[in-house]
Amino acid sequence: MKVKLAVQVFSTSVTDALEYCVKDQGLQQFKHSEATVTFCRTVDKLFDIFNTRNFLSKNSFRRPLSNTNFSFIKSFFDENRKYILGLKSLEGEELVYSKRKKGFLGLLINMTSIESIVQKFVVEKKYLSYLLTYKLSQDHIETFFCAIRSRGGFNNNPTASQFEAAYKRLLIHAEITSKSSANCLPQDDTYILNIASTASSKKKIDYMTDNVDRLDDGELNFDIDEILINEENHSQYVNDVVIYICGFIVKKLKLKINCSECCSQLETNTSFSKLISRKDKGGLVKPSANVINVCKIAETIFRTNRNYCTGNVILKLIYLTKEQLNLANIFPDLSNHILDQDPLNNHLLQMINLILKYYFTIRLHHKNMQINEVKDRIRHKYSKLITFKNQ
Ligand SMILES: [Zn+2]
Repeated sequence: MKVKLAVQVFSTSVTDALEYCVKDQGLQQFKHSEATVTFCRTVDKLFDIFNTRNFLSKNSFRRPLSNTNFSFIKSFFDENRKYILGLKSLEGEELVYSKRKKGFLGLLINMTSIESIVQKFVVEKKYLSYLLTYKLSQDHIETFFCAIRSRGGFNNNPTASQFEAAYKRLLIHAEITSKSSANCLPQDDTYILNIASTASSKKKIDYMTDNVDRLDDGELNFDIDEILINEENHSQYVNDVVIYICGFIVKKLKLKINCSECCSQLETNTSFSKLISRKDKGGLVKPSANVINVCKIAETIFRTNRNYCTGNVILKLIYLTKEQLNLANIFPDLSNHILDQDPLNNHLLQMINLILKYYFTIRLHHKNMQINEVKDRIRHKYSKLITFKNQ
């Protein structure tokens, strides 16, 4: 079971997205989602309290439970106990008494237990000065079981000797690591199982020369004339999301680009996207209009192309986008800065290449996820069936 995926549903990102759809976009489909937002927020905060692990956290729900914040947590728990007890299904049945009661009872039991532990050991007896609730989590044992299971080809029911063998190998071999199904950020610099000598040369793909090669072999058969580069083509929603992605790209670029003059062109103080304004808690990057323009054109190119299966698709998309860019209008403030640089490989071109490379990588990742959406897998279905029938 992937708890992570379930927990991600009850996150601030989801509530922000819902509020964005209702309040900023006014989408009818999301009308009356306020109750869902409240529910997700509540569960999110409860999960935070149940998983505190950093002593120095600034978030009031992720702080260690101690004497100082005990009354706050207690009143929060009291409030939410009432909230959870009051939840009803569409038919009017109270959820804590329904067939689906487990999760809700779990939350209630957790709240009561944690409150009692803190009351007894931190406040009264002072054995502990604070409690980090992640220590009480069963994650660690789950990780260990996962490691054991993975030894026998993900066998759910190992025999005693299989378990023994797996356990021995874990003891002797390596430290336990679990498969991380973490947020999939494209981490370009991470090379796994690569021969060192080839990795470095591959990294430095020269986009300019590569594009020139492509021009020669006439491999590009896209009908570019049909592409209408028009900002109005995108809905406000698409624009907001593109700008949000731009923010992420700028954040990445700032780590990569050393030239301060170029860096200063990437960011502004004004937010062009309602999505950024809604999600921003102070740390989000607001991309400049120039970056946004580049990415909007990239988005158009991405949407008008359907041919993703050819080799070097990112290079092709970058090439097509650059064809549509009017270099004279993009980053006009850099026009003097690039004068004494290599005309075919100046900072401006490098920066646009990088922006497009990041953009298309993100978009292709997303496209790929859509294509590979989990279908009903027989193995998954039957292994669950067997596990829960206790056979
Ligand atoms: Zn520069």
